Amino acid sequence: MTDAMTERGTAAEAGGAWADPLERLRAAARAREAAGLRRVLLPRDGGHGGLIDLASNDYLGLCRDPRLAAGAEAAVREYGTGSTGSRLVTGTTELHAELDRRLAALTGTAAGLVFSSGYLANLGAIATLGGRDVLVVSDRTNHASIVDACRLSRSRVVITPHRDVAAVERALAERDERHALVVTDAVFSVDGDVAPLAALHQAARAHGALLVVDEAHALGVVGDGGRGAAHAAGIAGEPDVVLTLTLSKSLASQGGAVLGAPEVIETLVDASRAFIFDTGLNPAAAGAALAALDVLETEPDLPERARDRARRIAASAARLGLETTPDPAAAVVPVFLGAPEDALHARDLCRKNGLKVGCFRPPSVPDGRSCLRLTARATLDEAELTVLRGALEVIARSTGRSLHT
Ligand code: PMP
Repeated sequence: MTDAMTERGTAAEAGGAWADPLERLRAAARAREAAGLRRVLLPRDGGHGGLIDLASNDYLGLCRDPRLAAGAEAAVREYGTGSTGSRLVTGTTELHAELDRRLAALTGTAAGLVFSSGYLANLGAIATLGGRDVLVVSDRTNHASIVDACRLSRSRVVITPHRDVAAVERALAERDERHALVVTDAVFSVDGDVAPLAALHQAARAHGALLVVDEAHALGVVGDGGRGAAHAAGIAGEPDVVLTLTLSKSLASQGGAVLGAPEVIETLVDASRAFIFDTGLNPAAAGAALAALDVLETEPDLPERARDRARRIAASAARLGLETTPDPAAAVVPVFLGAPEDALHARDLCRKNGLKVGCFRPPSVPDGRSCLRLTARATLDEAELTVLRGALEVIARSTGRSLHT
């Protein structure tokens, strides 16, 4: 008999000393309720219930575009409703191979590999390129999928202050590990600001590290033709730069990819568990993403239109004395409110005034930084922007901030 069995027997004999396993969860839920941190799933109709959508990541407004629907439909008719297996077995169709190539061509990288989500692309890239003899240096506000990837990598991880290149350099210089990765969001998913990519690349190169850049919020929005932040910073094609991205935001589909030097992509094909043991991307999603890339090519002004809407939303918020990211480089515009209850109240005011917005509270953001997350869309029109300004005015009044109109 093992010690554990002895103990279990003793506890049971002592009159059921084991705790109710669900009571632990109920107690934690009550604590979250009291802190304003409960979350509810709200199914939506085909639109957004008559509200103006400022919550989704459909930055280019392509999600209902008939060209993407036709791409998805053609893919289903040709390849079926599922990819039928992992990419190494039956899950790579001609569409997947074309998407690998076209994402690399768009971002200016040598090679690409499509994963079934952006989350898995980060897990695949960082867990595979990391390891016990690799230091990983990660920005404090990186996306949760990067945080999880760092944990999975078994690397020692140094978390650096937000956008702090000197801290990154220090961590790289002081390491004992032979190898290193520097990992950053290109556009940070809540604050909407951009990483200092050129300086990070210089630091990484000076210390023999790879730089991994998550282009999730930059692809399709930042840079000429939406080619992303690494391309805009002039580092995309460098052999020591690895990009990850999602197909689910500006490309209005689903899936993810890793892009970089052929050696990086070959390593992932051979060794990434998130790649090897996952079913390949659904053909419909690959077809829609390819159609979105066609649209980006034929309408190269779409990214600038999304950026323009973001700048105007941020300017309206700033004029009303609301705390925001003053000069957003992509489509994400936060409005910081502080306490979770204040953010929830502001979200309700938005809803009453015709807007659907994101509301971010801990653990998605640090304590005291609860906020609304407004996302600009290339297709937002003047009437919608006027409604938005009206809602921001109501919020500014309700928070007692002075109006500078
Ligand atoms: N990286 C960032 C910065 C993200 O914001 C997200 C999605 N919210 C992901 C990765 C994950 O992408 P996906 O939703 O395709 O899994």
